[in-house]
Amino acid sequence: MMAETATVEAQRSPAPATLTLDAVVTGAGVAGLYELHLLREQGLSVKAFDSASDVGGTWYWNRYPGARFDSEACIYQYLFSEDLYKGWSWSEKFPGQPEIERWMHYVADRLDLRKDIVFNTTITSARFDEETERWTITTDKGQTIDAQFLITCCGMLPAPLTHVFPGQDSFEGQPLFTAKWPKEPVDLAGKRLGEVLKTRVFEPLGMEDTTFTLTGALRSRLADVNASKADGSLAPMGLELPSPPEVDMGGHGLYSTVGDDMRFIRMWLNDGAGEHGRVLKSQTVRIAEKNQLGDLKVTMLPGVIPSLSNDAEFFPGLSKSWALTFMVNDEQAPTGRPAGALGWAGRANLFY
Ligand SMILES: Cc1cc2nc3c(=O)[nH]c(=O)nc-3n(C[C@H](O)[C@H](O)[C@H](O)COP(=O)(O)OP(=O)(O)OC[C@H]3O[C@@H](n4cnc5c(N)ncnc54)[C@H](O)[C@@H]3O)c2cc1C
Repeated sequence: MMAETATVEAQRSPAPATLTLDAVVTGAGVAGLYELHLLREQGLSVKAFDSASDVGGTWYWNRYPGARFDSEACIYQYLFSEDLYKGWSWSEKFPGQPEIERWMHYVADRLDLRKDIVFNTTITSARFDEETERWTITTDKGQTIDAQFLITCCGMLPAPLTHVFPGQDSFEGQPLFTAKWPKEPVDLAGKRLGEVLKTRVFEPLGMEDTTFTLTGALRSRLADVNASKADGSLAPMGLELPSPPEVDMGGHGLYSTVGDDMRFIRMWLNDGAGEHGRVLKSQTVRIAEKNQLGDLKVTMLPGVIPSLSNDAEFFPGLSKSWALTFMVNDEQAPTGRPAGALGWAGRANLFY
């Protein structure tokens, strides 16, 4: 036992000596890079630390397809150096993430910042000693730093919400988070939402007439969606989405039939199983049908465009909660609808 302990002790690498600096900057995003440069210009010994493997901050982490500025590039700039500012020109008014990341690399290169940035390293604690007026800072690599100044440039959005869905640990697909998008290209080819829904939901439930893309046979049975006119009468809108759609939209865009809709409802009543297989675990159904938003109750839902939709208050005066997927009646309604009954909106006007 003693010999074993001694071997382990011998293998353990010695803790790095405390690093003494004037200043530590947490983060190598736009703010951290500027602080590092500024403090160095003032002659201070300074290091920046970032959990990421390179500079960029927000623009390092958020590399999902389509990520781009929503400010005009000309205002998202460092203006302290004319040389730096004029040495770069943007190709677009609202450039995408790859170009923004390239710009941040350009800044780091031009100001020679990387030599004072410790990457892949997270600051785990920082304690200020009132007597010595110095910070003791530790990192996840076991390093301790003693510094007079600590400048936190951690950003507003560096801790993405990654654990928000009940049961997500048992999700069999590849979880993707916008703020932790992989550097390697993600192959989403052939994975349109309609195809995934077809194999994982519609087929097990026997829903043969539910689709994002209308077939000729379905088009001949297409029901009109009506809008109310000023006099209160209804007129057909002639609504037909482009087919096939550019994007299979989860929020709307599915064509279906009453029979298929009933099959979908039956799945909920049947604890997650359909005619040809199970699509939800019963444990998931239990979670989905319970109030998940605490005291935040369902109130009147105001219509946004009065000509298209009215204000909607379901079961006025009765308490209703939000489950993950449904509205839940908290108490029995005079119509006989029991407490715990579930409902959801989202269909176009269907008269059946
Ligand atoms: C998709 C997207 C688009 C945006 N578009 C715009 C825009 O157009 N205009 C605009 O003004 N703003 C925009 N923003 C806001 C953006 O966050 C800021 O503009 C700016 O980039 C923030 O810079 P920052 O340096 O303050 O923080 P960040 O860029 O968030 O950098 C913080 C860095 O600190 C690191 N860090 C945090 N904690 C630690 C720790 N304990 N140890 C080590 N490292 C740590 C993180 O890893 C991160 O790299 C956008 C944000 C997002 C997500």
